[in-house]
This record gives sequence, structure tokens and C-alpha cells, in this order.
Amino acid sequence: MASTAKIALCLTGRTIEEDLELIKQYKDYIDMVELRVDYLDDDEKLFIRKFPSLAKIPTILTIRRHCDGGKFCDGEANRTTLFARGLAYADQDSRKNFTYVDIETDFDVPCLQDAALAFGTKIIRSFHSIESPIDEIEKKFRSIRKTGFEIPKIAFKPKNLQDVSNLMKESARIKDYEHIAIALGPLGLPSRILATKINSCITYVSAKNSPEDFAFLGQIDPITLTQTYNFRQINEDTSVFGIMGYPLKFTNSPKFHNENFKKRKMNCVYIPIRCENAEETVQFADANNIKGLSVTLPFKKDILKSGVLNFISETTGEVQAANTILKTCEGWKGFNTDVNGFIKSFLEFSGYRNLFFKKIAIIGAGGAANACAYAVKKLRGNACIFNRTLSKAREIANLYGFRYAPLNADYLYALEKYNDIIIQTTSVGFGCEQDSESNKKNDPIFFYEFKGFEKVFDLIYLPEKTPMLARAEKAGCSICNGSNMLEYQGIDQFELFTGEKY
Ligand code: NAP
Repeated sequence: MASTAKIALCLTGRTIEEDLELIKQYKDYIDMVELRVDYLDDDEKLFIRKFPSLAKIPTILTIRRHCDGGKFCDGEANRTTLFARGLAYADQDSRKNFTYVDIETDFDVPCLQDAALAFGTKIIRSFHSIESPIDEIEKKFRSIRKTGFEIPKIAFKPKNLQDVSNLMKESARIKDYEHIAIALGPLGLPSRILATKINSCITYVSAKNSPEDFAFLGQIDPITLTQTYNFRQINEDTSVFGIMGYPLKFTNSPKFHNENFKKRKMNCVYIPIRCENAEETVQFADANNIKGLSVTLPFKKDILKSGVLNFISETTGEVQAANTILKTCEGWKGFNTDVNGFIKSFLEFSGYRNLFFKKIAIIGAGGAANACAYAVKKLRGNACIFNRTLSKAREIANLYGFRYAPLNADYLYALEKYNDIIIQTTSVGFGCEQDSESNKKNDPIFFYEFKGFEKVFDLIYLPEKTPMLARAEKAGCSICNGSNMLEYQGIDQFELFTGEKY
């Protein structure tokens, strides 16, 4: 069985002391570090030779040029001097030397390479393409690997998921020599989390507060990698699930699913897949043997229109939106677990068994609103849909025989008629600071004054209390956020993914 990929923390401190501090902070979550000399202040560069003895952890010596995505701009002669400084006076105790040196394919200084090899420093022979993808990965690896002592590394910026898929597929095929394969940027995250599965021997991570110019690499921090994604448990037999969405900046789903896999000792991992196109994501899933996906913004409806699903469940057909897709022997199947998640959480919160005689305002008319409207209809409630784009409100209202109105102060009178229960389903307020004052931008019904009798349910779970919910609570209303709904819909997903009772 292939060994687990090692986790290398990129050190981007301006001083050696800062870098040592980072090692202290993350030592339990990493196997090695990469000293990025190009991030060090000039006077600190004088002392790189002593770094491995201070770090007491296997270290890669890297001086990345600007053209390869680094910060070094002082020319190749100065870079050669710096490499020589790092590799000179090798110690008999190999722990006091750099374990690896990263040398680009076009940097050919035989005496440095010989010195490295003579003292047991392994060479990572790297090729970076920060503008465009590389097609023939396997061929490229073979051409980079000049001697059997070198570990070839390819890192490139993918243009789409197909590029990431190529890299992962071809890298996984190489079993006879160590190599490193990385797709850069947020699109490439699967290649980092699944490094072991694709036989890439090192995955790179960075500290949570890394410099901003590092963010384009799409690295995650070592704690998230090891705790949220159970990286060290991933092996070639691990089943992969994920969440597709765009921009997919915040999601609690990986934490939920991976924690549950871990608790039950299931050899599974759940990863984020940032994508711009539903069809392409399903092709990516097929190519990489991904068995099931959660579907989030903005693909819940698109996934049905894309024609990639061979079957859809009854609820999915009714609400015309899927939030879960599963690969079965008969093809991809679509499900909607939002409806059940909402019903369960809402009934628990309200204490109601049905919604007879209740007048309900549904704020918003997106995919989530559709699921809530379907649920309200099922529970026999009477609703009015309020939305910024009136046509969308009309579309949902017509489906279920509800009323609809524009979402603005001119229609306050309508909201005041449908205020037994207010269900907030827009994304307004999502991700805003906890305790921020309600305003037009973070509170979709800022113009409405709560009376105190309303039951107010907001699908948003981050922050825990949106400005709208905080206002409702202050007025005496009972309130509920979307975290239980998220959990309940996640439980149904978990059962679909694993075929096991939660
Ligand atoms: P969606 O299909 O994209 O719909 C977004 C809705 O928000 C639309 O009604 C849109 O109005 C409205 N909206 C966006 N920006 C607005 C603004 N500035 N002013 C007024 N209205 C605005 O998204 P979705 O899938 O329904 O998700 C909506 C929210 O529900 C998200 O925050 C999501 O996280 C949350 N959600 C939570 C759960 C859970 O389990 N707790 C499950 C699903 C969704 P227009 O039509 O005018 O654009």
C-alpha cells in the first residue's frame, strides 16, 4: 500500500524567529517544513544554514523566484550564492542539514546538486506553471526526473476542473517513483487533500494568517487538513464524497460529515469542490471515483437542468432542486434533503404539528425558499412569498397556490398580514459579523417592526444570530437559526452517502 503523503508547512515569516514560532504552533500537525527563503528579510538570509538544527524537523530549502510565484527578484547569481550558503559545511549528523532542496528544472548548477546529493539532501526538481495548466503530466514528470535521486514536482494553475482531474488521474498512475503533483488555487484543493490517493508524496500547507499573496495557492492550514479532513487516515481505499458550489467560501458540511465518518471509523472523506459548472463537476466526480456530492449555491436547480441525473426523487421533482446527488449503478440520482431538514427543525422549534390557519411570510424565492414553500404546503400552511425579484416569487407562489409580493417597505402591509411565522431564506446577513447592527444590507426586512408574537426562523446559521434574528428576539419573538436544519439535512445526506442509519 502507498504510504501517506507527508504534510509540509510553508514558512513565510520575515525572520527565522517567526518561522520557528510557526513550527511551534503547528508541530503536532506537520511532518516537515519548507523554508521559503524568498520571504525572509535580507539580513536573515545570512543565517539560513543553521535553520535545520534550530527547526529540529525535516526541512526543504526553497528560494522561489517571482516568475514561479515566489518573491525572489535578485537574479540567479545571488540565488546560487544563497543555495550554496544553505547547503555548505554539511554536518555529519544529517538532521542538521536540509533534508530536501527544491531546485527548478531550468536551474542547472551541477556543483550545488552534487553537494546536495553527497550529503544526503534530496533534490525536489520542480516545475511551476502559474499561468496555465499542463496537459501531459506523466510525460512531463518523466522529462523532469533527470536522475533516480530526484523527486519531480509539478505545480500548475488549472483553468477548470478538467485540468485538476487530469493531474490527479495521471499522478495516481505513477507508482514506481516519488513525485509531487499540485493543482494550485481554490480549484486545486482536491489535489492537496487527496495527495495520498493520487500518490503525491508531499502536500503543502500554510499557517492560517499567511501573507495575502499566498492565498492564490489555495493552501489550507495544517489543523484543518488533519482535523477536518482526517488527512492522515486517507489511503487508496478511502471513499470520497464532497460538496460542489461556487464560490464555496463558507461551508460547515465537511466538518459535519468528516466528524461522523471518524466517529464511526468509516474510511471516507468529504471534500469541498469549488466549481463553475454543474456538468463539469459531475465529470470530475466520475473521473475521480467520487461517490456522492452535496449540492449548494448556485447549483441546486442547475444540476437538474444539466441533464447529468438519470433519476430524481419525488421531492426533488416537486421542488425542482437537488441538494444531494449520489452515484448508483444506474447512474447519478438526485435528492433533496433540505425539505425534510427544514420540516424537522421547524416543527421542533415551533412545537406545531401542522400549520393549519397560520399565515406565513417566506422571505426570498431561491432554491431554499422553494424547499420551504413546499414544506409549508405539505404542513397545510398559507403563505406569501416576498422577494426582491418579483418574477421568482410569482413562480414559487404559483406552484403552491400562495400569494406573492415585492420585498420592500411599500409592501409592509402585506408582510403584516402574513406574520404569524416569518421564514427568512435569502442570503442577506450570511457571513456578517455577529452583533452587527441591523441595516438595509444585512437585514432583508429591516423595514418591519417585530410585534413579539411572531415565530421567526432564519435559514442562515453563520452568524448564529443574524441582525434580523437579534431584532426579533429583542422584541420578544421566539427565534431559530438554520443550524439544526443544516444538521438534519446533513443526517439524511449521510444516510444516502453511506447507506447506514445515522
Ligand atoms: P439562491 O437560490 O441563490 O437564492 C438567494 C435568495 O436570496 C434569492 O431570493 C435572492 O433574491 C435573495 N437575495 C440575495 N441577495 C439579496 C439582496 N441583496 N437583497 C434581497 N434579496 C437577496 O440561494 P438558496 O440556495 O436559496 O440559499 C439561500 C440562503 O439559505 C443561503 O444563505 C444558504 O446558506 C441558506 N440555506 C441554509 C440551509 C440550511 O440547512 N440551514 C439550507 C439551504 C440554504 P433574488 O431572487 O432577487 O436574487
